[in-house]
Amino acid sequence: MIEDILKRYAEPTVTTVCSHSSLQIFDGARKEGFKTLGIALKKPPKFYDAFPRAKPDEFMILDDYLEIEAQKDELLRQDAIVIPHGSFVEYMGADRFRELQVPTFGNRRVLEWESDRNKERTWLEGAGLVLPAELDLDEVDRAVIVKYHGAKGGASFFIARNREEIEARVDKTQEFTIQEFVLGTRYYIHYFYSPIKEDGYALSKGTLEVLGIDRRVESNIDEIYRLGSINELARVGIDPSFVVTGNLPLVLRESLLPKVFEMGEQVVEESLRLFGGVIGPFCLETICTPDLEFVVFEVSARIVAGTNLFISGSPYADFIEPGLSTGRRIAKEIRAASELERLAEVIT
Ligand code: AMP
Repeated sequence: MIEDILKRYAEPTVTTVCSHSSLQIFDGARKEGFKTLGIALKKPPKFYDAFPRAKPDEFMILDDYLEIEAQKDELLRQDAIVIPHGSFVEYMGADRFRELQVPTFGNRRVLEWESDRNKERTWLEGAGLVLPAELDLDEVDRAVIVKYHGAKGGASFFIARNREEIEARVDKTQEFTIQEFVLGTRYYIHYFYSPIKEDGYALSKGTLEVLGIDRRVESNIDEIYRLGSINELARVGIDPSFVVTGNLPLVLRESLLPKVFEMGEQVVEESLRLFGGVIGPFCLETICTPDLEFVVFEVSARIVAGTNLFISGSPYADFIEPGLSTGRRIAKEIRAASELERLAEVIT
């Protein structure tokens, strides 16, 4: 039991895989006085030498991420608390990650609600959010985006305007979803839910923060207009793709902030009802339409890479505390929970 393991811990070591958002996780942990451990393959990544403040105190070097399970005893010996990020879960595999008997920040149960598209829809619709319509092939009457299940980074997603275009392109050997293409501006909102903090934007239990907003930069869709219209380009065989290559910082019109907090609040409240809560950082991936409505096309239930923009704070986090990155916010939550002897509420 993770709870029993936690009782034996003296001083936690903040541990994660060296990728994704690990630099700010280590930097934030060090600022809060934690030891840090980075898991890497073959040898320590050289580029960490270039960033001394974000380099973990120690590395655990493996040949394969699948060995993490086998290193369980060593991780426990070091009082490791694992901080999951997107690459961590992807490299280990969601099922293996769920079973890992090492204390992990956040609620592992969220994985089953996030990785199953139907359950994700149940959660977000139950929270009262607006999601893009999902259409059957014979219902397609508008521009759509076709998404293959489990496709990483949207590389193979495609846009179509009618049923014929889908039939001409789709790989029917794979499972796919046809989703209304929502036209508007994208905002990836970085929330943090604390079940133990009491001052702030209060929920039925704990508080909700917004630590930043970014927009993913995607190749080639974000620059394809430079070559011509999507229709023209399709005729010569050039199609848009959605491969994430980086992130841009954003702020929203201040008048939209009440909606942003309402959405986050509803997502947390519904998660508390369904599975005990989405604890710590999560991100709603939204499109704001010209009617100023948010359509939410995805939830990421852990630290997202867009938070890497805000190592020394953001236009939102600065109103909470100067220099507050999401990595540092996680470390603060572990510290606060440890002092209150409530670690089991934020670690599973
Ligand atoms: P996803 O893998 O679901 O995050 O989608 C990858 C990218 O596809 C997003 O970052 C958006 O640029 C785009 N996208 C996804 N769903 C929609 C949608 N329903 N309407 C418009 N664009 C979308």
